[in-house]
Amino acid sequence: MISFAVRCAALILLPLVLVACAGDAVVPAPAGTSQSASQAESVAANQRFDQFVETFIQAALDRSPEWAIYQGHYEQAGQMTIPDAAWRQAELDYMDGLLAQLAAIDRDRLSADRGTDHDLLSNRFRSSRFYIDELRAWAWQPSQYNVAGPLSLLLNTEFAPLEERLELVSQRLAQVPAYYRAARLNLDHPSLEHTELALGQSLGTLGVLEDIRARADEAGLADDLDGLLDDARAAVTHWMSELESLQEELVRTGTARSFRLGGALYEKKFRHDIQAGFGAEELYRRALAEKERLLQAMDGHARSLWSQYFSGQPLPADRLERIGRMIDRLSDDHGTVEEFVENIRRQIPELEAFVREVDLLDQDPDKPLIVRETPEYMRGTGAIASVSAPGPFNPGANTYYNVTPLESYGEELAASYLREYNNWMVQILNIHEAIPGHYTQLVHANKSPSLVKSLFGNGAMIEGWAVYSERAMLEAGWGNHAPELQLMHGKWLLRVVHNTILDYAVHVLGMEQDEALRLMRQEAFQEESEATQKWRRITLTQVQLTSYYAGYAAIVDLRQQLANVQGDAFNIKDFHNEFLSYGSAPVASIARMMLMRH
Ligand code: ZN
Repeated sequence: MISFAVRCAALILLPLVLVACAGDAVVPAPAGTSQSASQAESVAANQRFDQFVETFIQAALDRSPEWAIYQGHYEQAGQMTIPDAAWRQAELDYMDGLLAQLAAIDRDRLSADRGTDHDLLSNRFRSSRFYIDELRAWAWQPSQYNVAGPLSLLLNTEFAPLEERLELVSQRLAQVPAYYRAARLNLDHPSLEHTELALGQSLGTLGVLEDIRARADEAGLADDLDGLLDDARAAVTHWMSELESLQEELVRTGTARSFRLGGALYEKKFRHDIQAGFGAEELYRRALAEKERLLQAMDGHARSLWSQYFSGQPLPADRLERIGRMIDRLSDDHGTVEEFVENIRRQIPELEAFVREVDLLDQDPDKPLIVRETPEYMRGTGAIASVSAPGPFNPGANTYYNVTPLESYGEELAASYLREYNNWMVQILNIHEAIPGHYTQLVHANKSPSLVKSLFGNGAMIEGWAVYSERAMLEAGWGNHAPELQLMHGKWLLRVVHNTILDYAVHVLGMEQDEALRLMRQEAFQEESEATQKWRRITLTQVQLTSYYAGYAAIVDLRQQLANVQGDAFNIKDFHNEFLSYGSAPVASIARMMLMRH
């Protein structure tokens, strides 16, 4: 999990167009003959591209104040995007214009770094068109409409004195009624799942409005805001009652849209969001094969550990039972609720020292990672840990590793988290989130500062790297090859692989809830709460769950390809440093450049 604001939380609400997770798998042909390109033409192309990017980003921030707020840019923060048909048409026209401008710049004359930016942007613009024109979530996902996120950020981010922030808040509040009127007009046979979610989240919106009232009171500004808050509250309440009648009608007439995307739309969304060199079905098949390999390896570890942990007890005949019981036993090895955050804090320097010792990749001691308890307003997403990186407009700020203290959960849930993040699993978590996972990747990405990649980075590359880094650490000897750690890592990877299997099986193949839950519980060894929560996430999102495995699989492929090409000259540290030097570009783009260079 990683975030500029809170990236990995499944259900962040960003404005429609720019939230799209980037583009299309079609990338221009390789610039294999760069020596023949005249240098002057390259310089000119680079300049044109830089100019384009500068103009585009300023315009994008102005056009989408909500997205800008998430990026820490507040110039237009008082302005609210009203998501009506005219706005969508304007966006489509705008994307067409941007695509035409990009097409006029010769991608093959650009420097490597700009070339990947060009890929990312053209993918992004095509993707934005797809989201409006074909996916049309604006018509069937009422949960897209929520004014709370930006309001809450303006209230809780201390970028200016409270009075100034409340002024921006009040400007936005004045537009809330128009916002929900437009939202209602957009809806056309929404899915019941997204309608339900919208109702639940709207309750949260009412809560945010009350927070604003409380802070305005504190600041002595209640008189200015009370009327606006009352009107906003009435608009949200009205929206909720409209959703309730709509829900009732959809159930009565059986005309709700299915949350399942279906094969054609799913493949397209996969290409836009993941930008891999393969399709969704191919990844699904690969995940099924990977699952079998993982289970075989985990079984080997379970067998080797059995007599040590279950002395005198017969080895179960069933493979899943052998693995399941061993995982269950190892999950008993955990610290206390009170020590949870401290234990994580203590491990970070150990990871850093190990990476240095085995020479896995470069690190930057000048950019320390600060472990802190997750701030209150960021809790409640179900995420136990996340990394908050400063946005590109705030480069001096700290990078935080947010860990939620288990005391903030009920006793039962805290106990379940402790078993899940036992002494073994917490190491994998720290590698994934921090070193050399998300945090280390960010440090590298920031060395070749590309505003495009900071703003529109590829999610599959980011998550894929974090998952790959776990494997790289274990291969390098972290944990001394302990079978316990290998087994737990197997469980972690099984979850990653099941994210892909289930997302595809449910959205494309029509898998039902019972079967999905059974798979997660019995064949991926997930706790009940994890499985139920995952099912919910599958019904509310599409494709995002495949990004972890898609990125991981592509990185593993690339490493193997380069090792084959380079033979004895292959060096793992060089591979990691070079891979990360391209920033958060799609793995397919990075692979193309690395394979060209070697
Ligand atoms: Zn992650």
